[in-house]
Amino acid sequence: MKSYRKVLTFHTDKRFSLINITDQVQQAVEESQIREGLCLVNSMHITSSVFINDHEPGLWEDYHRWLEKLAPHEPVDLYLHNRTGEDNGDAHLKRQVMGREVVVAITGGKFDFGPWEQIFYGEFDGRRTKRVLIKIVGE
Ligand code: ZN
Repeated sequence: MKSYRKVLTFHTDKRFSLINITDQVQQAVEESQIREGLCLVNSMHITSSVFINDHEPGLWEDYHRWLEKLAPHEPVDLYLHNRTGEDNGDAHLKRQVMGREVVVAITGGKFDFGPWEQIFYGEFDGRRTKRVLIKIVGE
């Protein structure tokens, strides 16, 4: 069995961003030369997510509105976590809802996706450098 590891870095200019990373992850699959296997993609930070959904801008705005309703950024004193001096209590909750990681099957060197599936990085406390881990195993 072969394995391959790669880290992507992101530094968004806004607190909240959703980024389609499918092409970057597919690039890692090609570098791995693994044709049959599994690809794990996870955020290495507890205020950002990796998830799978549709490449559709209306949906991205729906996520933004929905997450702000569930866990609004302000007022920052809404969150006990922010007593630590941080202001990202909301981002920890958003990350929990949107998830830490995805695992995608690789078949014939390509993602074995269902219809419309794409891989996204969800940033909820941006404006600093964050990492996403890709680990691919197979043969
Ligand atoms: Zn925090």
